[in-house]
Amino acid sequence: MSGGAHPGAARTARLQGLLQTQGLDALVIDSPFDLRYLTGFTGSNGLLLVRAPGAGAGAGAGGGVTFFTDFRYLTQAGEQIPPSFEREIAPGDLLDAAAAALGDVGGTLGFDARSLTVARHQRLAEQLSESWQPVAGPGLVERLRLVKEPAEVDRIRAAAELADAALAQVLQAGLRGRTERDVAIDLELRMRRLGAQAPSFTSIVASGSNGALPHASPTAREIAPDVLVTIDWGAELDGYCSDCTRTYATGEGISERAREIYALVLDAQERGLQAVAAGSSGRAIDAVARAVIEAAGEGEHFGHGLGHGVGLEVHEGPRLSRTADDEPLPVGCIVTVEPGIYLPGELGVRIEDLVAVGDGTREVLTRLPKELTVIS
Ligand code: ZN
Ligand code: ZN
Repeated sequence: MSGGAHPGAARTARLQGLLQTQGLDALVIDSPFDLRYLTGFTGSNGLLLVRAPGAGAGAGAGGGVTFFTDFRYLTQAGEQIPPSFEREIAPGDLLDAAAAALGDVGGTLGFDARSLTVARHQRLAEQLSESWQPVAGPGLVERLRLVKEPAEVDRIRAAAELADAALAQVLQAGLRGRTERDVAIDLELRMRRLGAQAPSFTSIVASGSNGALPHASPTAREIAPDVLVTIDWGAELDGYCSDCTRTYATGEGISERAREIYALVLDAQERGLQAVAAGSSGRAIDAVARAVIEAAGEGEHFGHGLGHGVGLEVHEGPRLSRTADDEPLPVGCIVTVEPGIYLPGELGVRIEDLVAVGDGTREVLTRLPKELTVIS
């Protein structure tokens, strides 16, 4: 952290406020993404114990917040986690140390059922005093992470800019005659050279009929002339992810059907983008884009949700889909808008942008042009 207060301290204080509203006396956090969000810790073995203010077990140093790690991360934890947190270097399993720290004051202890495995949960239950009741927490940290702080938006914007620049470089070398794998490797290498820690997920480069598989792995197939190529990629920068998809043509000779489908997906994508607003639900926004594709008779070929939240994880809340809840999008969330049409054995088109949702505003963070472009 360079100057200023550690963001994790304020986030953890907000979490403590939420604990009270949920009737939890303490929460144990083991998801590496939640840990990074609350503490800044990037090591592989850490655990955070957060007590509700005023809970009996909360007395003492650290404002009721204790970070556990092992001796390998002593120095790293000292540099990364908020100085106000109590720190404990545990010799064995960190869950055992957390259970011991909770003692027998008793209460309800939340945990994240998404990240704590059944085996780990069992261990926790065995180590805890009987006065504590473990309960699956309702994703409280995830809920905080929905709303990005300005500094988080800056990081995701920077990741998106870097990813855009990397793809622009790759396209200069052309697509025709290269294998999908070669393009994917080239793209990932360029992202790293531009400063990314890693790709935010395994890049998709899918040409011709491979484009009909929404999650195609790049193959040794040589990219042919006059086909469509879908590229879905993102960069991880300072722990934050970007996510974008573009579909290109490798020649003017693509089929009329390919042009039609491309125009339809682009129309659905732009209308979906315009529907993104704080206060609208993920389900309602999905419906706007889906209606465009359904009206053209291609509804059955758009089998996935319209989008998802992006942040420390490339897939996080909120979801934009037919089965999403009615919860309105909050100001400060960042979501993708990525309709696609997949014609099995023939072709596929997906176009994806990343959008920061403001108070009555939206900022598209992925900037590469979307009109059908020939890259030979
Ligand atoms: Zn994507
Ligand atoms: Zn996506």
